[in-house]
Amino acid sequence: MNGPKTLCPSCEAKKNGSVDITDLVQDMRSRLPQEKQCEDHIYLQRIAACLACKELMLPYTCRVCGCIVYLRAISRDAYCPNSREDGWKNISNQT
Ligand code: SF4
Repeated sequence: MNGPKTLCPSCEAKKNGSVDITDLVQDMRSRLPQEKQCEDHIYLQRIAACLACKELMLPYTCRVCGCIVYLRAISRDAYCPNSREDGWKNISNQT
């Protein structure tokens, strides 16, 4: 039985010291229609909130849902999955 050929970005970063997820972010953006993406300033606020959150398993993974936060934050309709302490509650999706 063959194992997985690629690791998730966080596992790869742990194994190799770091990983550049720029390509993953760009790929996600290229596949998501523009109207489904949040504004850049919202994205940056979401990432800042995640970086300050105790649920972030560095460098990229949310402990609550296992998502890669840099990818989750792209979608306009995305939300913080932490029902006890919404890390994005003060971020408005309004422009
Ligand atoms: S719980 Fe919310 S704020 Fe914290 S890392 Fe996960 S998505 Fe980000």
